[in-house]
Parts: sequence; structure tokens; C-alpha cells
Amino acid sequence: MNKRDYYEVLGVSKTASKEEIKKAYRKLSKQFHPDINKEADATEKFQEVKEAYEVLSDEQKRAQYDQFGHQDPNQGFGGGFSGAEGFGFDDIFSTFFGGGSRRRDPNAPRKGEDLQYSMTIDFMDAVFGKEAEVELPKEETCDTCAGSGAKPGTKKKTCPHCEGAGQLNVTQDTPFGRMVNRRACHHCEGTGQIIEEKCQTCKGAGKVRKVKKIKVTIPAGVDDGQQLRVTGQGGPGHNGGPSGDLYVVFRVKPHKEFEREGDDIYLELSLTYPQAALGDELEVPTVHGKVKLKIPAGTQSGARFRLKGKGVKNVHGYGTGDQHVVIRVKTPTKLSEKQRQLLREFAEISGDIPEEQGSSLFDKIKRTIKGD
Ligand SMILES: [Zn+2]
Ligand SMILES: [Zn+2]
Repeated sequence: MNKRDYYEVLGVSKTASKEEIKKAYRKLSKQFHPDINKEADATEKFQEVKEAYEVLSDEQKRAQYDQFGHQDPNQGFGGGFSGAEGFGFDDIFSTFFGGGSRRRDPNAPRKGEDLQYSMTIDFMDAVFGKEAEVELPKEETCDTCAGSGAKPGTKKKTCPHCEGAGQLNVTQDTPFGRMVNRRACHHCEGTGQIIEEKCQTCKGAGKVRKVKKIKVTIPAGVDDGQQLRVTGQGGPGHNGGPSGDLYVVFRVKPHKEFEREGDDIYLELSLTYPQAALGDELEVPTVHGKVKLKIPAGTQSGARFRLKGKGVKNVHGYGTGDQHVVIRVKTPTKLSEKQRQLLREFAEISGDIPEEQGSSLFDKIKRTIKGD
């Protein structure tokens, strides 16, 4: 189930001042305080108001909420947008019949469904941000009938089966006696109204499927799995209510050199044995371009060097990460006879003569004959 918008919870506009938010909170927290309000869902509503106020009263949290919406890592990011399935009458019925006190007028304006869209982006675009465009198949209010579903010039009429109530009483005989159940009227699908002549464009649905291009600003520093809220780009509102929001979930492609962990970047750097033993000064790639790195003599495989501030700028503005360079010392695999000779000499000086495993029996015989 979609979490309610914090502004909606407090009943204030998105541009509300701090004072207005505080005032709305004072009023609602009093109204729903469990000590005062004895309705079944008062505690739940009180918590909702409290949570909304905690975010909207904090400038930083509010800015983050405006940009990213409700962060819910437990949501299934299956790809595509699962929210689109939320359209239809199931949703009307769950809000309509779910729990006695929550019954609402089926023709009251309601906010449209929130949609989710999974967007795959390049590693560097995630680091530096980018203006992008997504093509989104989405449902929109039908222009021909302005969402009513009725043919222009015709009107809806009150459903004769439920007399406009949207519900029917269904009587059932059970071993315990006669039971009366209230059910959504299937003739008018719970709306209480029937379309006599359907709009030809949308076949009475009031909505049409269109492919819409939407501009999305990939925020600099965004990481895999994070989401961005695009206000008002979700499903169309019902009965003149506002549109839902679009949540873009970013999937970041891996990079061939860099690996990212939070705002830090990891790079594996291969050194030759002489470079590691004697030290060197090299240029290493970072996401911000090449940077000089001094390798001290005697560097071990697995050693790490930190390039401060050469990581990713935090998406919420909390500083910049570092780049960590992880050293791998390469062992040469193909040696010329000269190189082999020198390494053997090196080993002798170190007092550590290896039993060469790679050499063939023929090499060993040759060496024995030559006397080395
Ligand atoms: Zn239509
Ligand atoms: Zn009906």
C-alpha cells in the first residue's frame, strides 16, 4: 500500500512555510492524540502526523523528501513499474471497504497511483549526474471525455441497481441464520454511476495509455538502488484529484576499472616487482581525471593508498568520498633467459635459491652440465 504524502497528511501545500507546518501539526496532533481521540485508528493517524512533521519541520530532511520521496528499501524493485498494476477497481474497494471507519465516498477526488520506473544508467552519469529523458508508457486522463468515460454531450446516470450508493446488500442463508453482507455494486463498479454511452476514445475507462517522455535529472552522486521522486508524473488522479508521483529507481552499471562503495571508489593498480621494490611515481585514473601517486620503495601486494576527495560527491551534500588504490604486485609469467639469469643472481645474493619448478628436466640437465 502506498504511504501517504507528508504534505497531504498535514493538509498543507508543498510551498507551506515553517509556521504553517507547525500550526497544522499542532492542530492535528491535538485532534488525533490517543488520550483525547478514542477512535480506533487515532493512534495510527497520530503516528502518521508525527512522522510527517518530523520530516517537514527539518529543512534538510524536507529538501531530501521533496527530491526523493518516501525512501523504502523494502519495496520490490522488479524493474518496469509495478505501480501501473495498481490501477483499477481493486484499489477503490480496498480503500472503500477496508475497515469500517475508513469508508469513503467513491466519487470523492483521490490522488492518482504512484508509479515506479527502473532506470539503468552509466557509472559516470551516476557520479556526476545528467539530464536524461525516459519514455514511459503511462495512463493519462482521456482528453475526449476529460476522464468521465462518457461520450461527450452525454451524462452519467445514477446506477439503478444500487441507487447511487455503490454498494449492494447481499443476503445469504447460513446455518447461523440470515446474514447480510455489503458488497461493491458490480453494475457500476462501486462508483454509483453508470455510463450510458461510452466515450469512444477510451471505451468508458476515462483513461488512455500513452507513451510519455519525461525529463529526469539524475542527481550527482546517486547510487545503485536509490530512487528519485518526480512529482505529479504518476497515474492520473480520480474524480479530479491530483496525479500520483513517479519514483525513478536507479540501476547503476558497473565500470570496467572503478568499483564503488558508498561515496568511495576502489581501483586496483598492478605494479611490476621492480616498481614495488624500488618505488615509482605514476599517474593513476580517478573519476575526476588522472592523479599522480607516489609508490614508496618496498610496497607490498595488497597495500592501499588513499586519494582524499577523489571519490563521489555525496548525493545529499554530505561531503565527498575518497579513492582507494589497492596494489597488486604482478609476478612475471614469461621470462627471457637473461631475466631468468638476473633473478637467479638476485636470489643468490639474497641467500635464497629457489628450486625452479617451471624448468623442464632438460633445463636442469643443461644446468648441471654447465655447472651452475
Ligand atoms: Zn474518454
Ligand atoms: Zn451500482
